Amino acid sequence: MKFQDPCKCRCASCGIEAELPVSLLLAFAADCPGCGASFKEAGLRVRGMVEETATFFSAMKIMLRVEDHLGITITDELAKETCEEHELTLANLATLAMRASPSVSPALADDAIRSAVRIEFPGAPESPDFAAPLLEAIGKTPQFGVVSS
Ligand SMILES: [Zn+2]
Repeated sequence: MKFQDPCKCRCASCGIEAELPVSLLLAFAADCPGCGASFKEAGLRVRGMVEETATFFSAMKIMLRVEDHLGITITDELAKETCEEHELTLANLATLAMRASPSVSPALADDAIRSAVRIEFPGAPESPDFAAPLLEAIGKTPQFGVVSS
């Protein structure tokens, strides 16, 4: 995946191609220079990509710590399968650790995840929400600027 700034977007209403700053797209503040239609749809797509990338890298950081902590190896196939799930949570990562090795109990997995989050994301809540979307659970929800009216 490659980000381009400004980003080339085609207007869904009038069909012209516009080059728009990514910051405006992310803030839902971009309008079509041709017809004035909102580029919110494109903004949503870019936000989705940012969140997906941030989630993926955060999950990687946590799982590397968990592997270390538990002395297990998580295969690429298993990790890929879990990352392709729609919304990644700490609960998904705990399940991943348990699937990687039969010696990992739920309590052990939770403990390893908690410890990994504490080390990697000092700003995370003390008792992270295992069911929340990953970025929310670790207090890293991306900020995209002010939403235009
Ligand atoms: Zn337009």
